[in-house]
Amino acid sequence: METAVLDILYLLASVGFIVGLKMLGSPKTARNGNFYSAIGMTLAILGTIFIYPKIAHLRVPTFVYGLIFTAILIGSIIGWSIAKKVEMTKMPELVSFFNGMGGATAALIGLMEFAHNIGHSSKMSMIVAGLVIGSISFAGSMIAWAKLNGRLRKPIRLPKYNILNTLLALVLVLLGVYIVWAQVSNPVFIYTLFALALIYGVLFVLPIGGADMPVVISLLNSFTGLAAAFGGFLYGNMAMLTGGILVGSAGTILTVAMTKAMNRSLSAVVFGAFGEGSSAAGTSSTKIKGNIKEAGPSDAAILLNYANKVIIVPGYGLAVAQAQHVLHELEELLSKKGIDVKYAIHPVAGRMPGHMNVLLAEANVDYDKLVDMEDINNEFANTDVVLVVGANDVVNPAAHNDPSSPIYGMPVLDVENAKNIIVNKRSMKPGYAGIENELFYNPKTSMLFGDAKSALTKVVQELKGL
Ligand code: NDP
Repeated sequence: METAVLDILYLLASVGFIVGLKMLGSPKTARNGNFYSAIGMTLAILGTIFIYPKIAHLRVPTFVYGLIFTAILIGSIIGWSIAKKVEMTKMPELVSFFNGMGGATAALIGLMEFAHNIGHSSKMSMIVAGLVIGSISFAGSMIAWAKLNGRLRKPIRLPKYNILNTLLALVLVLLGVYIVWAQVSNPVFIYTLFALALIYGVLFVLPIGGADMPVVISLLNSFTGLAAAFGGFLYGNMAMLTGGILVGSAGTILTVAMTKAMNRSLSAVVFGAFGEGSSAAGTSSTKIKGNIKEAGPSDAAILLNYANKVIIVPGYGLAVAQAQHVLHELEELLSKKGIDVKYAIHPVAGRMPGHMNVLLAEANVDYDKLVDMEDINNEFANTDVVLVVGANDVVNPAAHNDPSSPIYGMPVLDVENAKNIIVNKRSMKPGYAGIENELFYNPKTSMLFGDAKSALTKVVQELKGL
C-alpha cells in the first residue's frame, strides 16, 4: 500500500516537472509552470520524508524530522528572499548560484553513500559519477557566479591551461574507474576524487570570459541534472531520476541553442579566448567608411508619428537603462494613433536567454506583440520605421555581408531592409562582439544618441505634442 502511494506521488511529481517545464516555454504560462514544478517537488519531498522510511523499514527518531524541517525552513526563507530581491540583469548569477547548490547536493550524496555501498559495483559507479559531475558543477558554478557579479573580473589562464585541464579530466576518469573496479574501501581515495573534481571545476571555468558565462552556466546546469539523475538511479527514485534527466536535457538543449544563435561552437566557448571581459574582442578586417546622420528626439517623434508600421528592436542597452516602461508607453502611444507596432525578438538579444521577453513582460507589454526573429525578418521590407533601442550585434548586417567578421553567419534581424531606421544608443562604441556596425552608417539610419530611458522619455514627450 505504502509503496503504491509513494509511486503515485513520484509519478505526480514527474508530471508536475514535465508540465511545468513545457509551460516555461512561453512567458504567458511560465509563472504557472514554475508553480506546478514546485508542487511536484513538494510532493516528492513529502513522500520521501514520510513514506520512504516506512518502505525501507528505517526507524527515524522524531528529532531528525525536526532537523529536516528546520533545514527546509531556513533554506526556503533564504531562497525566497534572494529570489524576491534579485534584479532582472542579475538573474544569470542567481541561476548559477542555485545550480551550484544542486551540484553540491549531488556531490554530498556521493560522499554519504560511499561507505554503505562498497562491494556493489553498479551502485558504486553511480556514486562516483554523481560525485565527480556534481563537484565539477558546484565548483564551476561558484566561479561563474563570481565572474558574473564582478568579483572575478578577468579570465585567468594558467600556462597551457587546455592541456592541464585535459590531463586533470583524464586523472579524474582513471581514478573513478579504479575506485569502482577495485572496490576501494579506503575513504582517502573518494576524498581525493572529490578534491580533484572541485579543482577541475574551478580550472574549467576560470579561463572562460565573463561574457560567455551564460553558455557555461547552462552547460553546468546540464551537469547538475546528470549528477542528480545518477542519484535517482542509485536510490531507485523515479522522481529524482525524471527531474535530473529533465534538467540535464533542458540544459543541453539550451547550451546548443545559445551557441547556435551566437554562431559559436561549444568548444570555442570552452577552449577559446572569445568573451574576455565585458565584451568579446572580435575584429573584422573591413573598416566601415561613411557618415553618420544624427537625429534629435523631435526628429524621431516625427518619423514615428507618420509611420503606418513600426518595429521596435530591443537589446542589451534597454536592460542597462531600465527603459522598458517608457518604451511600453511609447508603443502604446503609437498604437493609439493607429500605428501597427511590434517588437522583434532576437534569441540572444541581451545577456541571457529570454532576457528581452522577461524585461518586456516586466513592463506589461502584450506577449502577442513580441515576434521571434524567424517570423519577423520578412516584415522589415514593408516597415516604415524600425526603432533599435540599445541593440547592436543582433542587427549587424556584417553577419550577412562580411566573411571576415567574427559574427559572420550568425542569424540577425534584417533591420537594414526597412524604409527608415532609428538607432538609440549612447555612443558609437561596439556591443558585446566588439565590432563596428555598418547599419549606423546606412543612409536610411538616424542615430538618436543618449541613454535609452532619457532619450525615449523625450521622444514620448514630443509625440504627445504632435
Ligand atoms: P550588444 O551588446 O551588441 O549591444 C548593446 C548596445 O547597447 C551597445 O552597443 C551599447 O552602446 C548600448 N547601450 C548600453 N547601455 C545603454 C543605455 N543605457 N542606453 C542606450 N544604449 C545602451 O547587445 P545586443 O542585445 O544587440 O546583442 C547581445 C550580444 O550579447 C550578442 O552578441 C550575443 O551573442 C551576446 N550574448 C547574449 C547572451 C544571451 O543569452 N542573450 C549570452 C551571452 C552573450 P553604447 O555603449 O554606445 O550605449
